[in-house]
Amino acid sequence: MSLLEIRNVTRRFGNYTAVDNVSISVETGEFFTLLGPSGCGKTTLLRMIAGFDLPDSGQILLDGKDMVGTPPEKRPVHTVFQTYALFPHMTVVDNIAFPLKMAGKTPQEIKTRVADALDSVRLSNFGGRFPHELSGGQKQRVAFARGLVNRPRLLLLDEPLGALDAKLREEMQIELINLQKEVGVTFVFVTHAQNEALALSHRIAVMNRGNVEQTDEPSKIYGFPRNRFVADFIGKISMMNARIVEATPSHLRLNAGELGEVITAAKEGVKAGDDGVMAIRPEQVRISHPSEEPRLKNHFLGKVHDFLYIGDVTTYIVELSNGTYIEALLPNSSPGRATFFEVGDEVGVSWRHDAGIFLND
Ligand code: ATP
Repeated sequence: MSLLEIRNVTRRFGNYTAVDNVSISVETGEFFTLLGPSGCGKTTLLRMIAGFDLPDSGQILLDGKDMVGTPPEKRPVHTVFQTYALFPHMTVVDNIAFPLKMAGKTPQEIKTRVADALDSVRLSNFGGRFPHELSGGQKQRVAFARGLVNRPRLLLLDEPLGALDAKLREEMQIELINLQKEVGVTFVFVTHAQNEALALSHRIAVMNRGNVEQTDEPSKIYGFPRNRFVADFIGKISMMNARIVEATPSHLRLNAGELGEVITAAKEGVKAGDDGVMAIRPEQVRISHPSEEPRLKNHFLGKVHDFLYIGDVTTYIVELSNGTYIEALLPNSSPGRATFFEVGDEVGVSWRHDAGIFLND
C-alpha cells in the first residue's frame, strides 16, 4: 500500500479547474516532487493533502485512510513554507518545541526531541536565538526542524528554498537530501525550478494546467520526456518537424523535410506516417569543422547563428539547411577562450541515432 494516494482529485475555483482529475501515489520514504510552471495547481494540490483545502471530487488517502473530513491538525502531516512562518517573538528552541507542546508532550520528551531536531539541522548552538538573529538558510533549517519534530508521516514543502540566493540554495539542496535520508520521513516537495526537482527527487510529477503530464524518476523525465510540454519544460531541447518513414524495434527512420533523413531511438505505439517532432538535447549534439569526416549517422551542415559563453560551457545555436535551429553544447577546456567557432562559421552538427527522441503529442 502506498503511503499517500491521490485518487482522481479535482478542485475548481468558479469555472476554473485548478486541479483536474489528478491521481498520484507516493511511497514511504520517497522524496516526491510536484514540478510545474506558475499556476499549474501544485500548491492547490499540496493544500488539499495538508487539509487546508478540500477536493470537489476524488479521494486523498494516507496509509489507506480517507483524509477528507480530517482537519489539518489531526493529519499526520506537516507543511514547511517558503516564508518559514517562524514565530518572531519565540527563540529557536521555543519555535521547534511549539508543535510538541500543542500535542501535549511531557517537558522531558520535549527537551530530548528539540535537542535531536536541532542536531539534525546542525543548529545545536543556536537554540537561544530569535528568528531575526538568524540568516535565511538558518531560518529555513529551523522551519525544517519544527516540521520534523513531531515525526509526521509526511512532510510537505512548498518552495522552501525559493527565498534563498543561488549559492545558498544549492547548499541547502544538499542538506535537504541528507536530512531526508537521515530522518527517513516521506517528503512531498513543490517547486517550479527544474534543476532543483532533478537534483533532489526520487520521483517527479510534472504538472501543467491542473494535469499531471508525466510521473517518473528524474533521469527518465529528462531522458525520455513523454510529450512536448515535458521535453520543453525540463532542460533545454531543440525540436524540428518530422514524419516517421519506418518504425523498427531498434530505431525510427524519420523524414525531416529539406534536412532529409534523421534516425532516432525507437518508440512504442508509433508507426510509419505519424507526424511529430524530432527532439535532441544540446549536450547530445556534437559540433565540428565542416571538413571533418562524419562519424555518426545523423550528420548535417549548418551555420553558427549565435553563441553564448557561460563559463564552463559555450552554447552554440546552429541554423540548419531546413531553417531549424539546433543547440549544441561544448565544454570550455581551454581557459580564457570563449568560443571555437564564430557567428557565420560553417560547421557540422551530429548526434547518435539513439539520442534523438520522437514526440507526437
Ligand atoms: P505558483 O508556482 O505560482 O505558486 P501553483 O502551481 O502553485 O503556482 P496554484 O497556487 O495551485 O498554482 O494555483 C492554480 C490556479 O488556481 C491558479 O490559476 C490560481 O490563480 C487558481 N487559484 C488558486 N487558489 C485560488 C482561490 N482560492 N481562488 C481562486 N483561484 C485560485
